[in-house]
Amino acid sequence: MAALQTTQTIAVIGAGTMGAGVAQVAAKAGHPVLLYDAAEGAAQQGVEQIAKGLGKLVERGRMSQQDVDDLIGRITTVSTLQDLAPAALVIEAIVERLDIKQQVFSQLETICGAEVILASNTSSLSITAIGSGLQRPERLLGMHFFNPAPIMKLVEIISGLATDAGLAQTIYDTAEAWGKQAVHAKSTPGFIVNRVARPFYAEGLRLLQEGAANPATLDAIMRDCGGFRMGPFELMDLIGHDVNYAVTCSVFEAYYGDPRFTPSLIQKELVDGGYLGRKTGRGFYDYRNDSDNPQAETAAPRPAISQIAVIGKSPMAETFHQLLQQVDVRCNRLEGEEFALLTENVTIMQTDGLMATVRGAQQGIRNLVLMDLALDYQHTPRIVLCAADDIDQQALDDAIGLFQQIGKQVTLI
Ligand code: NAD
Repeated sequence: MAALQTTQTIAVIGAGTMGAGVAQVAAKAGHPVLLYDAAEGAAQQGVEQIAKGLGKLVERGRMSQQDVDDLIGRITTVSTLQDLAPAALVIEAIVERLDIKQQVFSQLETICGAEVILASNTSSLSITAIGSGLQRPERLLGMHFFNPAPIMKLVEIISGLATDAGLAQTIYDTAEAWGKQAVHAKSTPGFIVNRVARPFYAEGLRLLQEGAANPATLDAIMRDCGGFRMGPFELMDLIGHDVNYAVTCSVFEAYYGDPRFTPSLIQKELVDGGYLGRKTGRGFYDYRNDSDNPQAETAAPRPAISQIAVIGKSPMAETFHQLLQQVDVRCNRLEGEEFALLTENVTIMQTDGLMATVRGAQQGIRNLVLMDLALDYQHTPRIVLCAADDIDQQALDDAIGLFQQIGKQVTLI
């Protein structure tokens, strides 16, 4: 099976966050692109958004003005669905609602030729269900781009129960020809990525609801300690809360109310208030006029410590031993089963999931501080600590001062 030819027309429906990006990807690959949006002026705005983004690439010398002009020249905005008749492939990126998507695809079947390939960019809805009312459900599949579409490599090619396997391969090859990394997926709720990603948002929202830390702090922890490019709150702001909330509700319902996927009231309130994230200027953060946003909570400097013992022989003990040797502290290695850092005031251990107060009581350790997980303790710029409720101030100061001494920022949660 081969990819679609670049002479073949690609239509994109919906010129919002995703549609504009998808139109840009197809036009960059050399296809003529038709862009349609039901909201007046939205398609034109989509093209302006593309031009703005590409203008930055020209400024940085990563694209020539001529190539930008050629790319934009290949995109035509149209004002009715009927105008999409010449398309070989229609990619739909409209509101995440099954009934509306079904209706749009039914209309497209009467507008486009029998050979047209219909693709939905849905994040979570069943391709089988979207295609169920169609005359030719075998010609419908999911072509799921990620945000921002011109940058993110992955595209999930989703086959519903009726989808023609050869056609899924054509779209797979087309995505690859567009410079993407395609994967085949079945039409299960959330497909691959959105199923795996749901707990990233859900647990972030639960932590916020429990008052563990504010969004800026939780985002910084996930970036600095978890190695993620973005934390859950800034990512939800980028995606759009209306879209993210709709996807969560859809996956929750599709898995028969599995509590792991329970939607959050915090996010619902943002949606109800129109705080949809970047696209409306406000979400967890404020994007209007370079507003001052809350910064990650980081502990103020504490005095350095002069003596420490590193317990155990684990790779973790080795890492901290090495880090401590680079600073001015007397460091002893002691035998022991479990990794710990000891000063005369405090015991620091790695979290095993228990709360510090509970673990301290269970193991009979006074002044216990637990260190949260980090992907790479050697290089992480931040260490997250959690202290037992009855900890002495001096013990806490020692723990914070110790990590600051080896160049880490410390967040206490
Ligand atoms: P968006 O709200 O930014 O844009 C949707 C656009 O579709 C709007 O401009 C709206 O006017 C238009 N529209 C709505 N109904 C229409 C209709 N019946 N006909 C024509 N145009 C219509 O939404 P988005 O974030 O671009 O999401 C679009 C789709 O892409 C959704 O299915 C979503 O689940 C999926 N998706 C979103 C993301 C993301 O990060 N935002 C990522 C991957 C997939």
